[in-house]
Amino acid sequence: MADISVRIEEFDVVIVGAGGAGMAAAVQTGMAGLKTAVISEVYPTRSHTVSAQGGINAALANMDEDYWIWHMYDTVKGGDYIGDQDAMEFFTKNAPKTIIELEHWGMPFSRTEKGTAYQRAFGGQTRNFGESIAHRATAVADRSGHAIVHTLFERTLRPDIVQYVSYYSEYYALKLLRNEEGTVMGVVAWDMVNGGVHIFFAYATILASGGNTRNFRTNTNAHVNTGIGWKLCAQAGIPIKDPEFVQFHPTGIYGVGNLITEGVRGEGGYLLNAQGERFMKKYAPHVLDLASRDVVSRGMATEIREGRGVGPKKDHVLLKLDHLGKDFIMDKLPGIWELAYKFVGVDCTKDPIPVQPTAHYHMGGIPTNIHGQVVDWDKDNKEVPIPGLYAAGEVGCGSLHGANRLGCNSLLDLVITGKEAGRHAARWILDEHPTFPNPPEEFVADKYAKDVMDKLNELFDGPEGTVKMDEIWEDLQDTMQADMSVFRIEEGLTRQLARLDEYFEKFKKVGLSDKSKVFNTELCEYFDLENMLYVSKIETVAAYNRKESRGAHYRDDYPERDDANWMLHTAAYWKEDGSVVTEYKPVRQKPLTAPTFQPKKRVY
Ligand SMILES: Cc1cc2nc3c(=O)[nH]c(=O)nc-3n(C[C@H](O)[C@H](O)[C@H](O)COP(=O)(O)OP(=O)(O)OC[C@H]3O[C@@H](n4cnc5c(N)ncnc54)[C@H](O)[C@@H]3O)c2cc1C
Repeated sequence: MADISVRIEEFDVVIVGAGGAGMAAAVQTGMAGLKTAVISEVYPTRSHTVSAQGGINAALANMDEDYWIWHMYDTVKGGDYIGDQDAMEFFTKNAPKTIIELEHWGMPFSRTEKGTAYQRAFGGQTRNFGESIAHRATAVADRSGHAIVHTLFERTLRPDIVQYVSYYSEYYALKLLRNEEGTVMGVVAWDMVNGGVHIFFAYATILASGGNTRNFRTNTNAHVNTGIGWKLCAQAGIPIKDPEFVQFHPTGIYGVGNLITEGVRGEGGYLLNAQGERFMKKYAPHVLDLASRDVVSRGMATEIREGRGVGPKKDHVLLKLDHLGKDFIMDKLPGIWELAYKFVGVDCTKDPIPVQPTAHYHMGGIPTNIHGQVVDWDKDNKEVPIPGLYAAGEVGCGSLHGANRLGCNSLLDLVITGKEAGRHAARWILDEHPTFPNPPEEFVADKYAKDVMDKLNELFDGPEGTVKMDEIWEDLQDTMQADMSVFRIEEGLTRQLARLDEYFEKFKKVGLSDKSKVFNTELCEYFDLENMLYVSKIETVAAYNRKESRGAHYRDDYPERDDANWMLHTAAYWKEDGSVVTEYKPVRQKPLTAPTFQPKKRVY
């Protein structure tokens, strides 16, 4: 047997993920004096939040009159009416004070002439319930995520907080510890630097492991965004809510997928087809290029499908911004200039940037209530919290974004849900004094981590395998892109489900060629690929089963939204035999205090 060391540590709280959501939670648990472990595959400031560009929404009214209820209306409409309106109210209402708190913690916002934080226009953000465009995305040039990550990281390093918060960077989460009663008691992780299994026992576990669109060929996500959070929950019997809603951001750099922020269009940039036509006027006559992302991506994909794409393959369109002027671009969008120049050699102060829709974000995720507690549903379809488990940030699903997220609502989501999950967990631990049997080491390793140990032994002791990982990896990304992207149809989804079964079969034949335990990146890639296979299967089954078009989920064969039959959340359960079963759960349509926004036809 491979010689695998096992270490066990006890904490009050363990947080999986050190992006914006994980750190926002750690600030709270640290302030409450709770011993907190934050585990992350990468150093905290390298988490994907660092690459967010455009900004963070709040009705601060720094540029023009604005109210949280307008922000809430836009969010409900943007989500195509399937979002949970209590969560949408909670988060839009708390947005202004959250931004001010970040500002007080040192976030270096760009400034207006008056000295207040600068706010730009963004897709789907309006004033007075759709009347005119709102300036609500509060920005640090085009490096807003970078500023948030550093502001939160520094906050956790304050002496009164850091004494309780320990970062475990380069630890790879492998399994949720869940006992027979269903209580979550921590996580099992792999120590990537030294090799060995590390069991983190905790009263509260907060999953903040971010997004997972690496399973698409063209995507904006960081390499670590492969979907560990979904897999941990799927394997622990916890459903994934609304996985079919995958956001394709309109402006990925052609050929590579890296993001060009919607802030470019917010500042006055626009899209052109091969005929030099500003085609968005056909799809969103009122706000054109500032429609919501699903609408713009479908507009672009339609232009390409109908032969008006640019280039020899007619497979992309152009984003023009040179008319904004070099000084403005270098002041407000310097990162965009750099990305376009580095990746496609385009100087965007002179020429348009070639762009195509790129997989960007999951509106769905681990189901939570407004306090970040992970929930399942009882037989009467009532939400029941899973003791000891929370989720925050992109991996969670409140559902703050419904079927389509508006730009700049995600940074807000992760700061607010991270904070709320941390606060709720802290209050629960301090008030309720939860206990769980603290089992001896052998008991833990044998009982709760036995499957992990068996798998690791098999990989380290077993043969190299007859299938190479990249064979499955490459095919998976290509086929997900082909059949699960902006347009979906039964035939393509059936084809993709059959392919996924094949990939799972092939995956059984994958082994490791590198048997070392120290910094074995092949081992992590093995688990990354498994994560992506889980995510792909869960979202494809859900997309196959939802027979309507809503938000980012567009079915060519069911092109209309169907509120009579489909105003329901998907709950996708992973079964022991590897199948995925979907159930349908009520939408929380009643806000906390605001009137319910009733479903209407969505036009921009
Ligand atoms: C290019 C880009 C630009 C964006 N721009 C904006 C914007 O302008 N405005 C906006 O509102 N939103 C934007 N978004 C969306 C937003 O940035 C993300 O949804 C958000 O940052 C996710 O934050 P998070 O804390 O949930 O996860 P992340 O920041 O992704 O952090 C995930 C954490 O989980 C850890 N992790 C992952 N896997 C494992 C594992 N196996 N074991 C241990 N740890 C693990 C990682 O190490 C990391 O610390 C953008 C996204 C992208 C990709």
